[in-house]
Amino acid sequence: MAIAISGPRVLLKQLRETMAEPLASQARLDKIVSLIADNMHADVCSFYVLRDDGALELFATRGLAASAVHMTTLRLGEGLVGLIAAQAEPLSLDNAPAHPAFAYRPETGEDPFQAFLGVPVLRAGQTLGVLVVQNRDSHAYGEDEIEAMLTTATLLAEMMSTADFDALIKPGQDIDLRRPRQFAGNGFSDGVALGKVVLHDPRVVVTNFVAEDTEVELQRLTDALDRMRLSIDQMLSHGDMQSFSDHREILESYRMFANDRGWVDRLTEAINNGLTAEAAVERVQNDTRARMMRSTDPYIKDRLHDLDDLANRLLRVLTGDGATGKKDLPDNAILVARNMGPADLLEYDRTRLRAVVLEEGAAISHVAIVAKSLGLVAVGQAENIVSMSETGDDIIVDGQQGTVYLRPTPDMIQVYVDKVRLGAKRRAHYLELKDKPAITRDGHEITLLHNSGIVADLPMLQDTGASGVGLFRTELQFMIASRLPRLREQVELYSEAIRLTEGKPIVFRLLDIGGDKVIPYLRYEAEENPAMGFRSLRLALDRQGLLRIQIRALLQAANGGPMKILVPMVTDAWEFRQTRLVVNKELERMKHAGQTVPSKLELGAMIEVPSLLWELDQVLPEADFVSIGSNDLVMFLTAADRGNKRVAKSYDPIALPRLRALKHIVDMAKRYNVPLTMCGELAGRTVEALALLAIGMTKLSMSPPSIGPIKEMILGTELTPIRNSVSAALLEGAHGPGIRELLLDWAGRQGLVI
Ligand code: PEP
Ligand code: MG
Repeated sequence: MAIAISGPRVLLKQLRETMAEPLASQARLDKIVSLIADNMHADVCSFYVLRDDGALELFATRGLAASAVHMTTLRLGEGLVGLIAAQAEPLSLDNAPAHPAFAYRPETGEDPFQAFLGVPVLRAGQTLGVLVVQNRDSHAYGEDEIEAMLTTATLLAEMMSTADFDALIKPGQDIDLRRPRQFAGNGFSDGVALGKVVLHDPRVVVTNFVAEDTEVELQRLTDALDRMRLSIDQMLSHGDMQSFSDHREILESYRMFANDRGWVDRLTEAINNGLTAEAAVERVQNDTRARMMRSTDPYIKDRLHDLDDLANRLLRVLTGDGATGKKDLPDNAILVARNMGPADLLEYDRTRLRAVVLEEGAAISHVAIVAKSLGLVAVGQAENIVSMSETGDDIIVDGQQGTVYLRPTPDMIQVYVDKVRLGAKRRAHYLELKDKPAITRDGHEITLLHNSGIVADLPMLQDTGASGVGLFRTELQFMIASRLPRLREQVELYSEAIRLTEGKPIVFRLLDIGGDKVIPYLRYEAEENPAMGFRSLRLALDRQGLLRIQIRALLQAANGGPMKILVPMVTDAWEFRQTRLVVNKELERMKHAGQTVPSKLELGAMIEVPSLLWELDQVLPEADFVSIGSNDLVMFLTAADRGNKRVAKSYDPIALPRLRALKHIVDMAKRYNVPLTMCGELAGRTVEALALLAIGMTKLSMSPPSIGPIKEMILGTELTPIRNSVSAALLEGAHGPGIRELLLDWAGRQGLVI
């Protein structure tokens, strides 16, 4: 015999009324299970809640022994209820006790019940609990009943996220929904931040669950789907999107899903069961998410993200909620996003942002570079964090460890409050050092400079007391822009950068694009090895229009003052020579037009391709200065991709072979009397920087937060004995101690904070 249900719509209305009634939490739950049991003509209705210790606790029942409430528990995966929770899928049985997973709990008195239907209570694909109905007789529940239960569970999930369960929970326990969670990601930018979650692309909060009029809701769905499809089509036909790009691919898959009959049918069915159009979208997305999240196939995971985006887009159309949370940030905002572009990040009020957490990204991704240059803590690859976070949740981000703590325990908060305090103390100490010159105890003076990429980070020069900007990565502005910046825009940008450095020197590096630095509006052919492909200076010399405009802009921005231009990725000396010709042509052009040329123009070469090490005899006499890009140089010397964490960490950049290469450059620059700077990441790490000082480098350019620790190290160092000992080790080769061990030993002896 199939059970006749009096209609989920009636039930949903009753449940909504019950939720609005002024009842105590337990009384409300008792009433809810009774209503469900009555409506479904079930002998039993029980509601189990997943606790933070992984147990499913019976929270309310009609039909089982009342004394079992808050007493009976099942572990995840244990019994039928545990199975449903673990698999996040409904389970319908005509003879429950015969199922191999059935776990008999005598205190509940459930043995006489044969028919069983349980559904997971899901939110953002996560199991929060299980809702069960049971009947004495043996029969199979139909599709309609399963659907009705799933719809009811959607409402319960929403109730759980807002209900006050405190009175029902034993001390020391909590419901799983509020469980502290830890994410092991990758640190992109050092530091520690405590704050409140701000979802970059927040899920639309559905507040209206129960439909007043199903026909109206069906029509709303149809209209919203039409509008969404239209907007996707418009985006696809937009001029900028004509070429092949990832973005286009994503939109194509959106279009495919938006027209998918199965998806639309499931939405329609949920509305027919009494939900509003927006609640139907949430319900269907929950099920899809729960199913797809278990897949380890990266393709499916990608599609899941697409579907999530699409569902959120549809919810926005339905609720008219276009807010992206960029306004009204809390004071200690921590952005949580699947991914975002650098431009997205820059739209936020930077004075209130503390950190960025991404599910995707890489340390060298553009958003990570921008986050770093803004002094934000950043962690990437925090899997699934978006669906587990709510705006306003407490969160701790540890950029050093790459760890994120969501809803941290009080103990954890205390640990990090202490760390932050220590960090603040250290920063205050560094601030005190800012006007002190960086001179070692035995009198070696070192110049400390900033690496920069956007004008927004230049005012930090005042806080660090650095001597200037050793590397201004001009490509970052190109990456942030939506189209190629015109001459006038570039002149304005470089002028602004010069103004903000307040008379201190600034080195502008010519566009270093291609490879990992993708500029969306410039077309590229896909390359097998982009790091070794058509990039940087190779691209610039091939498309000289771009190069000429940039040089012209830089020369104009100098406004009659000095100008330093750095040429990236010089592989052969002729490339540097060629660039010099373009610069000279532009100078001639300026003079011809009666414009004021820079008072002093210096052209420098980056040493970051190994081949150039054996052509320094040619390049050094022609260069006004040189700068080592250790990020690329070490990558090419070791044939280990700097962005691939599995190999990049395998080779110590200051181990003998690399340090010998660096020492060769130092010696050659000295021989030709050409100023040399190190502007790769090595310069900003204490042990590595000590190695650089030991081989005779005196100019280090680094990201601004590194200036303080490096200066402190310099002030405490007696360099001469370390120099002698490293020189000896370089000569001794493999028979001597490892360079890193040697330096750590010296640091210990001299009491350096390293
Ligand atoms: C380098 O390669 O070390 C460098 C400073 O340049 P980028 O990191 O921008 O490639
Ligand atoms: Mg480089």
